[in-house]
Amino acid sequence: MPSLLSFVSVSLLSLSTSVQALNFKNSSSCKVLPSTPQWPSETAWAELNRAVAGRLSQPLPLASVCHSTMANYNPSACEEITDKFKTGSTHANHPTSSMWQNYNNYSCMPEANAPCSNDGFPLYVVTAQNAEDVKAAIDFARTNKVRLNIKSTGHDFLGRSVQPNSLSIYTHNMKSLKWFDTSFTPKGCTKAIPGAAVTAGAGSQWGDLTSSANSRDVMLVAGASRTVSLGGFLSNGGHGSLSAYFGLGADMVLEIDAVTADGKIIKANECQNQDLFWAMRGGGGSTFAVATAYTMQAPRTVPTARYRGRLNNWDEIVYMHKQWPKLAALGVSGYINGYPARGNGGVSLEMTMPNATSDRALEVVLDPILAGMGREGSGRDRGGDRDDNDERRSKRSSTSARRRRSLANRGSYSYFKTWAEASVQPGVYDADEQEERRDLERRQARASFPGTGSNKIITSWMWSTEDCAHPNMAAALKGAFDTDTQLLNDMTMGVGTWKTPYMRGGGNAVNPAFRTATMRPAAELQWSGTNPATLKKKEADALRFGTSLRSIAPNGGTYANEADPNSPDWQHAFWGSNYERLFAIKKSVDPEGVFYCRACVGSELWSDNDGQLCKN
Ligand SMILES: Cc1cc2nc3c(=O)[nH]c(=O)nc-3n(C[C@H](O)[C@H](O)[C@H](O)COP(=O)(O)OP(=O)(O)OC[C@H]3O[C@@H](n4cnc5c(N)ncnc54)[C@H](O)[C@@H]3O)c2cc1C
Repeated sequence: MPSLLSFVSVSLLSLSTSVQALNFKNSSSCKVLPSTPQWPSETAWAELNRAVAGRLSQPLPLASVCHSTMANYNPSACEEITDKFKTGSTHANHPTSSMWQNYNNYSCMPEANAPCSNDGFPLYVVTAQNAEDVKAAIDFARTNKVRLNIKSTGHDFLGRSVQPNSLSIYTHNMKSLKWFDTSFTPKGCTKAIPGAAVTAGAGSQWGDLTSSANSRDVMLVAGASRTVSLGGFLSNGGHGSLSAYFGLGADMVLEIDAVTADGKIIKANECQNQDLFWAMRGGGGSTFAVATAYTMQAPRTVPTARYRGRLNNWDEIVYMHKQWPKLAALGVSGYINGYPARGNGGVSLEMTMPNATSDRALEVVLDPILAGMGREGSGRDRGGDRDDNDERRSKRSSTSARRRRSLANRGSYSYFKTWAEASVQPGVYDADEQEERRDLERRQARASFPGTGSNKIITSWMWSTEDCAHPNMAAALKGAFDTDTQLLNDMTMGVGTWKTPYMRGGGNAVNPAFRTATMRPAAELQWSGTNPATLKKKEADALRFGTSLRSIAPNGGTYANEADPNSPDWQHAFWGSNYERLFAIKKSVDPEGVFYCRACVGSELWSDNDGQLCKN
């Protein structure tokens, strides 16, 4: 980890921010900028460094080794970084890097001819080990009016963990773990909550936590990626293959250890700091406080069934969307993933049934649905005179018989006696991790998680049972894709998110749309290059695709972690009717706006003018 001293030769004055600074407002309603008299002195930074036991640094961008203008230029290190730039953990392991470069203005790409500067990244970083480090950073940012960033893995699809001209709290190393085998009593409560629970540092990543839970025969509601961390996931909801049965990650939280905007180290739970407890389970990260640890319930392991197969074309995709509510009502979670507007339009279909009561429990439900595939929909088989119809009928039955056979051939069921066995199978989001196990050449040849290291915009909308039956559903879905755009439908909502079995404190702040949704179809746009015109076009495409998905459920909403930050009325799209309460809590717990992030509660009170944050 680069220390403050190791970068002492890289004066911030040498960065182009100094030129920009002259053009910025110097008002008391703005966050301060480097190279202005208001920016903290070297002595003040050194004091902060002492307060955090030397864990303050001024990291250069990850790809700076590729640029002869940068102090740490190193061609052989550049080769390695260029290769690893497409893997999520590379960005997670660097104190300022983030997965999607469109959110840092392409400030430093691993391309020798591109410019490289710290302009789009935090300038100082506290690599926090404990709540006291977090408190020191928050107090410093508040007192000196320095823009504050919080980064754990840098996975955020809306670029919320990378901010220019900022001091960043890097929570990645906060990975403490403490298990409670039989019950947990939240601080200030008198009654124990029965069942196993775990208190994990906010920087913990789901891969490590799932392994730890597996070894104890219990389960945690994790996402589909091993590298996502608790901080961003739990703060906006967090869904995975257990969610349709057990609820969202945020629904499982019993207590949050946090540091508030005024520097208090607190615990929020159903007995104390209830407003924060409600808001920090669904109302967004980097908004109300910095979480340092979460305590989550861990149900006992259950037998699990899984199906993996394919859908071959739009008709089959639309059919499965119509059928899905039947599966959601049984607590089955699934994913549809692929490029439906490309080639023949084949996509993958994966589903997980937790608590499968027999080794054929999923087949019993799914086989009749698969058997119906091709019988419904296109209308091509209807009409004509009787003879013609008979001939067609006979053709149709042989076609659908073949289809059933081929469906059975290309799909397969698995049954696992415990969730632990099922959870170690690679999932839909696992390209990244599989990638890292491969040797360099193969890694270069094969794709990592789409868009990693370059550009990504996701637009999505939640659909309920009624929406799946809407007469315009097929058109709404098809209108959201061009040949370059990936469909990733997280069908992870169901009976467990509708009536959450583990929720504490009477509710939480996740978008109420989760409580009626069966699925969240997403159009994922990813592309390479740094051309601003392409970015503009993709932003416009994302708005168009989002409008299509939204058209059949205009009063619904989507998941704030996997959405387009430019969505119209993002406040209600991301948090629905909870927004007004969240906004009031934000104003009460962070009146000075110490915490800020893009399209986060209260961010409409600020403008980001080329990297300077000013109150509107
Ligand atoms: C490959 C991949 C797979 C994914 N799979 C899923 C999935 O299956 N299910 C799902 O629900 N989501 C999934 N996501 C989305 C994921 O939940 C979000 O990207 C989430 O924001 C990541 O959180 P993080 O802490 O890892 O990332 P970061 O980008 O570091 O942080 C995200 C946001 O949370 C804030 N934050 C982080 N830590 C804290 C903290 N301790 N206190 C306060 N604020 C904090 C940051 O400031 C930022 O605003 C996936 C994302 C990727 C890239």
